[in-house]
Amino acid sequence: MTGGGLSRRGVLRGLAGLAAIALVGCKNRPQKTTARFAQFGTLVDITIWDLPRPQAERAISRLRRDYAMLDRDWYAWGDGELGQINRTLQRAIEAPLSAPLGTLLQQSLQLSAASRGLFDMRIGPLVELWGFANAPTTASGTAAPSDADIRAALDRSRLHVDVLNDRPGWRVRTEAPGVLLDIGGIAKGDILARGMARLTTEGVSKALIDAGGDVAVMDLQGSAAFRVGIRPAREGEALRLLELRHGETVTTSGDYARYRDIGGRRYAHIIDPRTGRPSEQARSATVVHEEAARADAAATALIVGGVAAFEAICDAMRVDTALLVDNQGQIRATPEMQARLETI
Ligand code: ADP
Ligand code: MG
Repeated sequence: MTGGGLSRRGVLRGLAGLAAIALVGCKNRPQKTTARFAQFGTLVDITIWDLPRPQAERAISRLRRDYAMLDRDWYAWGDGELGQINRTLQRAIEAPLSAPLGTLLQQSLQLSAASRGLFDMRIGPLVELWGFANAPTTASGTAAPSDADIRAALDRSRLHVDVLNDRPGWRVRTEAPGVLLDIGGIAKGDILARGMARLTTEGVSKALIDAGGDVAVMDLQGSAAFRVGIRPAREGEALRLLELRHGETVTTSGDYARYRDIGGRRYAHIIDPRTGRPSEQARSATVVHEEAARADAAATALIVGGVAAFEAICDAMRVDTALLVDNQGQIRATPEMQARLETI
């Protein structure tokens, strides 16, 4: 009797155990969660593969909160931190900084040196002068700025800038008032890296973030090769598939997404710091790198440098995987990039 009772309980326990396992199995089964929202003047798409939906959604809502703050704080002409710093720097030569912004500005200075000045966050006065500061994505204007105005903005864009982290804390110090820092050429990369860091903190191990065609991927446990679509050429031209691996980011800078038409000519929102005029050397540049901010800054530098500087800038910025579309639509790619591209 006793034995039978035990055995029955045993069977029951066994079944209960099975049911629990089945439930746990169900909960843990990888399911894809996706989200799309507008931020940084573009659409951001998030895909998470490995968390139950409620947890994935919680991770995404925390990431959205981070992104809303970064959008405000890192916009050169806004009410957030960088906007305030820029207002201070119009009348003073020093302004305090938060550690995250200080770190990014320091990195920007290093990448600027590596790019031989083709990527330069001091470009703000010229971006503003050419009408790209608060303008919609694409706009028309009747006249280009005068040579005198370009020269004045160029002078401001060449004032020396130091980013310091010593006794009073993080601060930016300049040679004279008039500096206007614009991190638009590097922020997207950094934002992707911060997004991935946030998702990792929330327990995500496999995810993709696509911020308007700049894409970061991670697969902490597996070894998935992600195939992402990039549009290195203009709207309507062939989309290409690129293989991305865990921890990598791809960014593209081009004249197709943001530009102004002035007197029938298309001016890209990327300015050549040497001339103070919109860059006309190439149509687009695409870079893959494990350091997302480096990928972003390098894409900006490569489009400014054009075909003639392609290899030199790749070397100087320690970029192996890059391509450039010249003004005739011809693609120049490093061997590493060629190996990863497919046309569809
Ligand atoms: P996208 O915005 O298409 O990703 P970029 O990463 O090249 O392209 O960023 C372009 C932005 O960078 C511009 O809108 C401007 O704010 C800023 N910028 C323009 N010219 C330069 C430059 N030479 N160096 C650094 N930043 C630049
Ligand atoms: Mg860039």
